[in-house]
Amino acid sequence: MHKLSAMNDTHKNNALKTIGEFGLIDTISRQVHADPSVIVGIGDDCALTTIPVGHALLTSKDLLIEDVHFRRCWSSLYQLGRKSAAVNLSDIAAMGGRAQHLFLGVGLPEDLALSDIEQFTRGFLAEIAAAGATLCGGDTCRSTGPLMISVTVQGTIAPELVVQRSGAQVGDHIYVSGTLGDSALALAQLQRGLEPDPYLAQRHHTPTPRLQLGQELAARKLVHAMIDISDGLCADLGHILEKSHCGALIERSTIPLSPAAEHHLLHHPEDEEVALRGGEDYELLFCAAPQCSSEISDLARQLGLSLTRIGTIEELAHGLQQLDAKGQRRALQAQGFNHFG
Ligand code: ADP
Ligand code: MG
Repeated sequence: MHKLSAMNDTHKNNALKTIGEFGLIDTISRQVHADPSVIVGIGDDCALTTIPVGHALLTSKDLLIEDVHFRRCWSSLYQLGRKSAAVNLSDIAAMGGRAQHLFLGVGLPEDLALSDIEQFTRGFLAEIAAAGATLCGGDTCRSTGPLMISVTVQGTIAPELVVQRSGAQVGDHIYVSGTLGDSALALAQLQRGLEPDPYLAQRHHTPTPRLQLGQELAARKLVHAMIDISDGLCADLGHILEKSHCGALIERSTIPLSPAAEHHLLHHPEDEEVALRGGEDYELLFCAAPQCSSEISDLARQLGLSLTRIGTIEELAHGLQQLDAKGQRRALQAQGFNHFG
């Protein structure tokens, strides 16, 4: 009896066997709202979409693999759906663009229940709807191994407004949005087998892509270089420095921490480096001329989002340095999370 019902469950849980690939695609496509920029959406060989006259396409792709990028036991499938969209949307934010069209590829292991896939899709669609974007296609297949999620996003921007990593100039102020280290602190607790603080956990499982901030900074021509912090402050600032042929000085004491992160660090001083090195906050890091500082403060107020100056772009010869609590300059290693390191 017990065995039989377990077998039934396995069968029921095998979503692709139950409703088939096309049943699944149909379920997804019925949840997608019409969008005037989508002439042909899910259901044909290609999507046919339009972009505003005078704009160019921004395209980015992310691959998320179970047990490399996420654990199914640490987050709900709804959260995973949201995060899969958010990390991709964040790349559009980092160039100053507006997110428009997404494509979702999934490799589904046989033990994934139909309800799990529905939760995933609901999360994914909720996140892209919040960004004003639409799901236009994808690919669905069975995975004999882990759950695999591949997301492609297309955004649009007037090409003269686009912000790259390469434009930082000596003397620029370096800013970050929001707070740093929250996501990595939650991950550290999960890896220890401990329950993370709910605020830190929410920052880890459902990061917020800073699309409006990226668009406003680009539209108002306030920034010379920008990147989203996915691999950690040092690593991602390192990318800007490399592309811009500059160095930088970070004032350690100015790095913004959330109250939850500060509280955590009181009890776990060993996690102190997390604000510098922890990844997956998906905040924006940007470099702006000093004369833009009051406009940047105004924008922070308008958006209700903190924008904190954490340092200055310097000559390349200085490399990446930090000013520690005693006012001493010390070299910083630019590396953060590296898949192959
Ligand atoms: P093809 O064989 O031409 O690749 P498919 O049968 O794979 O077409 O897909 C049929 C339609 O469903 C296409 O429009 C495709 O973009 C869409 N699609 C497939 N999988 C997904 C998915 N997971 N999410 C959204 N659209 C999907
Ligand atoms: Mg296909």
